[in-house]
Amino acid sequence: MSRAAVFLDRDGVLNIEAGYIHNVEDLHLIPGIAQAVRQLNDRGLFCCLVSNQSGPARGYYPASHVDALHDRLCHLLQQEAGARLDALYYCPYLSHPEGGTDPQYTRYSTWRKPNTGMFVAAAWEHDLDISQSFMVGDKATDIDMAHNAGCVGILVQTGFGQQVLSGDYQHETQPDYIAKDLADAAQWILEQTSHAV
Ligand SMILES: [Mg+2]
Repeated sequence: MSRAAVFLDRDGVLNIEAGYIHNVEDLHLIPGIAQAVRQLNDRGLFCCLVSNQSGPARGYYPASHVDALHDRLCHLLQQEAGARLDALYYCPYLSHPEGGTDPQYTRYSTWRKPNTGMFVAAAWEHDLDISQSFMVGDKATDIDMAHNAGCVGILVQTGFGQQVLSGDYQHETQPDYIAKDLADAAQWILEQTSHAV
């Protein structure tokens, strides 16, 4: 039977939003989120990173730097709470009109949110049931991605979340739940899924 997943945006959800992170040491977890991921792990929910990372396409740093950031992210989750991400997906591509310059990564991609390509890849590779899954993000495009795929969309107020809600960033969105942060979102998800696993 296909499993439910919790898809997690990265910047502003797991780590403190800091723009393009050029130094690996500048990636810091939002307080309390490692414990929240651990609770989702313990419930048997598949925890999956889905992140737009256009730094390589913009020529800011190579894709190997994104991998190094993710190594640190996973290390910090493990160190703080024994938490883990079951899979990590990110989109390094960006179209030229959106700002892509490096030819290797400058193109349209179905993986770039709010497109659903990362969900499709994860569902295929890990036998996930998107209709029973949750997406936690801090941007309207995260909620758009969730709804484009028929998944529950949760907006956190960390990162850009508050600016989205006040109408000062991106566009209006209709999340299924508005959470203070990932810890709050995880509690809500655990309540919603208490009958299941
Ligand atoms: Mg984000």
